[in-house]
Amino acid sequence: MSLLDALERFHGVQQPSWPTDPYLFLVWWHCGYPASDGACAKGWESLRGQIGVEPEQILAANPSKLALALKPGGVVPEIRAMRLKEIAERVQKEFGGDLRAALGGIPVLKARAALKKFPNIADPGADRILLFAGISPVAAIPSNCPHVLVRIELGKEPDNYGRSYSEAQRMIEVEVPAKFDSRMRAYLLLKCHGQRLCKRTNPKCGECPVAGSCVFNQRENKG
Ligand code: SF4
Repeated sequence: MSLLDALERFHGVQQPSWPTDPYLFLVWWHCGYPASDGACAKGWESLRGQIGVEPEQILAANPSKLALALKPGGVVPEIRAMRLKEIAERVQKEFGGDLRAALGGIPVLKARAALKKFPNIADPGADRILLFAGISPVAAIPSNCPHVLVRIELGKEPDNYGRSYSEAQRMIEVEVPAKFDSRMRAYLLLKCHGQRLCKRTNPKCGECPVAGSCVFNQRENKG
């Protein structure tokens, strides 16, 4: 996909900035709220330093101390503390303490359904976990930027988030080989581009390396 080559030349090679192990990702995801890379990283560092991130450490922690450790990640730390205890308990009881091994041993549809039973995990989160944990090379799309590919190839985004996500997935499925490294690269570049230039509102088309082949730009900025 030449679009990805152009994005990589512009933004550089991207690496995940979050834990790719499924259980650790679930913990990291609840370390910040509203969840963002920056907020989750702050809460994660604090949690690691004060309590630890392993299931037994989270289950043994006093709820107030757990909430205090999560506070640097943003609001509602008490609720996030409860969620972490729920995640740790389920991983211990339902998945024998090894979520990655359990998910890798069942069909991908079942693995996705199992992930979606964890708090705050919908299709985008489940796809992200499956891809980056090396369980299945699904066409994962960053949850906050399915609009990037849709703008480039179709110009106008569907009103509905679910349709936008499905459109972007379909494009990746058609154009990017179903290999872990290829699909992870696509995910990371689209995420980076959506955060830096192709923002939801006021995209910076004037600075964009793919403006020449973007349908949205041709329609919106032709004057
Ligand atoms: S030209 Fe604008 S809309 Fe198109 S990809 Fe670039 S930033 Fe996004």
